[in-house]
Amino acid sequence: MPSPSPATPALPISEHEDEIIAAVEANSVVVIIGETGSGKSTQLSQILHRRGYTRRGAIAVTQPRRVAAVSVSRRVAQELDVPIGDEVGYAIRFEDRTSERTCIKYLTDGVLLRESLSNPELKQYSVIILDEAHERSLNTDILLGLMKRLIKDRASDLKVLITSATLDGLKVSRFFSGCPVLNIPGTLFPVEKFYSTERPTNYIESSLRTAIDIHVKESPGDILIFVTGKDDIDKMVSKLEERIQNLEEGSCMDALVLPLHGSLPPELQVRVFSPAPPNCRRFIVATNVAETSLTVDGVVFVIDCGYVKQRQYNPTSGMYSLDVVQISRVQADQRAGRAGRTRPGKCYRLYPISIYEKEFLEATIPEIQRSSLAGSVLYLKSLNLPDINILKFDFLDPPSRESLEDALRQLYLIDAIDGSGQITDVGRIMAELPLEPSLSRTLIEANELGCLSQALTVAAVLSAEITMRSTKSKDMEGKRKRQELPDGSGWGDHIQLLQIFECWEQTGYDPKWCVDHDLQVRSMKFSKDVRKQLSQIIQKIAKGPTDVNSRNGRKSDPDYRKLRRALCIGYGNQLAERMLHHNGYHTVGYRSQLVQVHPSSVLESDEYGKYPMYVVYHELISTTRPYMRNICAVEQAWVEPILKKLEKLDINRLSGGSSSVKDSEPLDVEDKQVISPKKALDTKQSE
Ligand code: ADP
Repeated sequence: MPSPSPATPALPISEHEDEIIAAVEANSVVVIIGETGSGKSTQLSQILHRRGYTRRGAIAVTQPRRVAAVSVSRRVAQELDVPIGDEVGYAIRFEDRTSERTCIKYLTDGVLLRESLSNPELKQYSVIILDEAHERSLNTDILLGLMKRLIKDRASDLKVLITSATLDGLKVSRFFSGCPVLNIPGTLFPVEKFYSTERPTNYIESSLRTAIDIHVKESPGDILIFVTGKDDIDKMVSKLEERIQNLEEGSCMDALVLPLHGSLPPELQVRVFSPAPPNCRRFIVATNVAETSLTVDGVVFVIDCGYVKQRQYNPTSGMYSLDVVQISRVQADQRAGRAGRTRPGKCYRLYPISIYEKEFLEATIPEIQRSSLAGSVLYLKSLNLPDINILKFDFLDPPSRESLEDALRQLYLIDAIDGSGQITDVGRIMAELPLEPSLSRTLIEANELGCLSQALTVAAVLSAEITMRSTKSKDMEGKRKRQELPDGSGWGDHIQLLQIFECWEQTGYDPKWCVDHDLQVRSMKFSKDVRKQLSQIIQKIAKGPTDVNSRNGRKSDPDYRKLRRALCIGYGNQLAERMLHHNGYHTVGYRSQLVQVHPSSVLESDEYGKYPMYVVYHELISTTRPYMRNICAVEQAWVEPILKKLEKLDINRLSGGSSSVKDSEPLDVEDKQVISPKKALDTKQSE
């Protein structure tokens, strides 16, 4: 592979090359702490490659975010002047751009976990870099525990590097029996911080005013504005453009407004990495991906609203909420730091200093303590580690016992583990599918029932997250287009998604059909691709016949009974029963609660007379009230066996028999709180 082009910038990490190599030579695990932008993600892999570490195997660099895996690998390929997918490649779920020649591989932490299922020793790698460990993603946390085991077996031929911008290095070092911690001093310039006297009632308006003020009054330098999500970015971008055009006083500079978020198409992402044209100020409106994952050069001013959108799971109710919550002090400092990379900068915090000091948490709560753990627990069970008791797995910060028990209950109800907590044959196949447990269980059942082709489509469409665009009242044209789409024949959203995909299939996958029906062409194409990949995987791993392309599903089963039954079994842990004297449902399971059908559901209109008695749901979300999203009508006879299982459920046996939860010593959970955001924005959440 060619050496780096001379244009490669000298980043702080490059000055410490010898020190890094010396530490890596002498130790199996090294922690590297360096400011965001110091070159950890892009340079470390290249340094190790130059020093011969790719002779015995490839270098894997994990990223918690898909967008970072793609963007950073492209950058490294560019610096080394090789095409992406050759020596430098990336692998994210449902997209693999690597080849036999790939020796520097960027991949999401989830993909590495999956690779370890078929190759538990990860022999293909000589170095594994867990990058962005400070993000504390669920999968990186699991990988930390796994690496600890792996280096015992591969002490002589595997190097593990853990890199982070803010992580408590000593804590990780202790976790890895005192491994060395290298600190790469940053070149941060001072950043002056300005606080608001009070919280603005409308943070978008306040950010806008601050941005325009900077543009008019301040010297050159790009402005990075943190907002909470894609909707707010869109709003902010259009308002900024409008106001810049209508500026009365004017600025002597031109302006360029750019969005930056995780689902931005790659061709738009690259724009934020190109420097500003001469005499032009860039306004980059970003989510928290710009905090540490993606480093944008040229920023001198930061506007920080102090909020972030966070998905949290409540194991007691089984409900997800997407809340706008206050950031932590660590996040606030990271955001401010973005202003001081090239010269002294300024950070405008749209909150008073008292909120920063007294209300913000010190650090963000790790994802493992705010996520459903069903997928992770199934993964750990499928590893067949001899001494594994899920409740005692070596976590850097253990999840709460409630979350682990919730995961065990869920897995039991969908047959992935048996009554004594042992993984079943079904569970093993489920673990191999790159899907959440409910969908993998559905596919396995569908294969048994002879409706695999339909189930594959449903799983693909749900995984590609095709969303029907929200029905805004003024968007009459969009509404009309959507009304022409199939309606699920009264059986709910899964069936509707299937019918939509099948209609598109019949047009020969015509993009115009998507446009005519107000569907995103990119998402539809992605779901087609995902379907193809899932078909290949299931053909490889499923036992018995697999019919991934049957075209006669509807004809032989006009009421979709087989598919709905497979869904009922797959979603056996996500079941709800209609309330007789109440306009809603109650969930069936460990703890029952009242829920409503989400307004976006095709069954919401209740055109078919009445809601079905039993439904399964894809997800429970809490916005203004608890809602079930994506529901499917199921039959009482299919529900009964699940109810029987529920009656038999014994959590003590599930969690490991005699060393049961109650008997075992308590988990060493430092912070067992169920996370409740201290303060949420009063703006209504958009999902
Ligand atoms: P760290 O991992 O320490 O935060 P990175 O290696 O991500 O640092 O970034 C180092 C430098 O590389 C930064 O100046 C950043 O702007 C640049 N860079 C990273 N990714 C890209 C990209 N996709 N395109 C252009 N420049 C990039």
